[in-house]
Amino acid sequence: MEPPTLASVLDAQRLLAPHLPPTPTWNYPALDAAAGTTVFVKHENTQPTGAFKVRGGITLLSRLDPAVRERGVVGYSTGNHAQSLAYAARLFGVPCTIVMPEHPNPAKADAVRRLGAELVEHGATFDDAAPYARALAAERGMRLVSAADDPDIIAGVATAYAELFAQQPHLDAVVVPVGSGSGAAAACLVAAALAPGCEVIAVQAAGSPAAHDSWRDGTIVRRPNRTAVEGLATGSGFALPQRVLRERLADFVLVDDDQIAAAQWRLLRDAHTLAEGAGAAALAAVLADPGRFAGRRVAVVCTGGNASEAELRRCAALDRPRVGAAAQ
Ligand SMILES: *Cc1c(COP(=O)(O)O)cnc(C)c1O
Repeated sequence: MEPPTLASVLDAQRLLAPHLPPTPTWNYPALDAAAGTTVFVKHENTQPTGAFKVRGGITLLSRLDPAVRERGVVGYSTGNHAQSLAYAARLFGVPCTIVMPEHPNPAKADAVRRLGAELVEHGATFDDAAPYARALAAERGMRLVSAADDPDIIAGVATAYAELFAQQPHLDAVVVPVGSGSGAAAACLVAAALAPGCEVIAVQAAGSPAAHDSWRDGTIVRRPNRTAVEGLATGSGFALPQRVLRERLADFVLVDDDQIAAAQWRLLRDAHTLAEGAGAAALAAVLADPGRFAGRRVAVVCTGGNASEAELRRCAALDRPRVGAAAQ
């Protein structure tokens, strides 16, 4: 399996144009003040599914052979890859089954059902849902769609970065939240071609450091998966994105769930932006290390906005002194 070429990314951009308008990239003076630098927010939370992954889902499904499409697709996910597949499957009339870990974020589970996909709950975590989905796909003759180990998924996701570098051509760094690594790998591939002066920095939750440790160790490793931040909760590195990250990623940092919640609150208050935890992780990384980013033009990808009601209540209940302390 090879990473996608730039030609494949540009083809995906043409393919997506009739389905998804470009997402905006905005700058907010209040965030600049908090971060001590110039911050641009790439608003993937404004996608119709509330997260960037729909770019990959539509790209992959539109490129599938008709015979494979007819039998359908199976995905496993804590939520946003699931919504992406379900959305794309509805668009193209493809049968779709989603396996989620038990007790999923109800907002994400309901969204998948409302998009017309079959939802199966299995296992305690993402890593338990995966083998079950694999077996189900084999049994039914359906195509299993990985969240990241697929060049068409990465090519679709990469269109976000082609857009970003066209919207902001003079970035010094882009910070990308990581679960499986499709987004960070996509950012690396596009930056190498279109913005070679821009560093790509990845961020994962300290409670689930598998992608971070896989990159640091240069080999795929398994790690405990304890973060409450859904989009970042993976227990093992993904091979294809890791290959790209090893070659091109400038750095990989970790933030804890409290830092992420504080950044989520900042986005809500200062950028009137509802981010889910994963969508605030990039800003958390910038706020955690002001010295590193001072005087640079930094993009943070707000990867998604699908916060559960419980998460929203927690976020709004954060006491102000602590939030202030985390941000200064
Ligand atoms: C999936 C997801 C991520 C992580 O992206 P990967 O490509 O899996 O690394 C980050 N944020 C949100 C909102 C996501 O849904």
